[in-house]
Amino acid sequence: MTQISYEIFPPKTINAANQLQNNLANFCADTPAFISVTCGAFGTAQTNNLAICDTIHNTLKTPCVAHVTCIGASKKSILQRLQQYQEIGINTVLALRGDIPENQTLDAQELHQANQLIELIQNDFANTHIYVAGYPEGHPGCADIDQDFYFQLEKAKQGTNGIITQLFFDNACFIEYQQRMRKHGYQGKIIAGIFLITNAKQILKISELCKVYIPTELRSAITKYQDDPIALCDYGIEYAAKQIDNLQKHGCSDFHIYTMNRSDHVTKLRKLLN
Ligand code: FAD
Repeated sequence: MTQISYEIFPPKTINAANQLQNNLANFCADTPAFISVTCGAFGTAQTNNLAICDTIHNTLKTPCVAHVTCIGASKKSILQRLQQYQEIGINTVLALRGDIPENQTLDAQELHQANQLIELIQNDFANTHIYVAGYPEGHPGCADIDQDFYFQLEKAKQGTNGIITQLFFDNACFIEYQQRMRKHGYQGKIIAGIFLITNAKQILKISELCKVYIPTELRSAITKYQDDPIALCDYGIEYAAKQIDNLQKHGCSDFHIYTMNRSDHVTKLRKLLN
């Protein structure tokens, strides 16, 4: 059965926070498999994350996955956060290293990679369900793409519940990744990350930073609709629906929508999928 989950991020302005309050109810009305909430690394955007997770889980009664990053954080502060999630009833996390802000020095880190965070969680909060991040086109910071694949495989095999992938626009990359993971004995969920485009400049920048390939047809459409945001979003939603339809034909049944906090876009997507 197809399972669709959503990713949202804690808003930075009061206006955006008010909008998210309304959108959260819409997201939850879809009864998604879960809603995951991003958080910053190096201590940023963590408080908001907890409050939003609380609303999703306890007020809106929807399964919630809290993103937890380890870079720039002490073991003690991570364990305190995990305790806070447990106290509000959340015991599923996406365990991440976290993005490293520019100009940040990495001396004196207690944890360097997500695999170490997973160990920490499993030692102290054994009942926690853990997802990890996967990169069908390789992690952008890796020195060697093959070695990176094996790091991802080992991380996923550390007793985790599944992989949620980075966004991708070329289904062939995901299908190859999924086949390679299966060939190496990984049997957990591989949840395909599907991005809903809202802005031309933003998607070009994200794809460049994440080293995600944009197929020619999509790139031409982004150029064509760069000054017409509504047409661009509609095109992006149709593109995402086609990606999902095609992936289902290749045996993929789990999809994680990068919503950009836009429930109106998700509603349009779900209509197309139905
Ligand atoms: P890791 O798995 O630790 O990998 C990081 C790098 O280390 C890779 O280059 C890998 O090849 C290398 N590596 C891994 N294991 C080893 C090892 N044993 N020895 C040597 N090298 C190793 N970022 C945020 O800050 N907040 C978020 O909320 C957030 N949410 C995300 C959600 C999803 C679904 C995804 C795909 C990414 C998300 N990110 C988020 C981005 C993520 O934090 C960055 O991509 C980060 O750079 C890597 O995190 P990771 O957990 O995948 O790292």
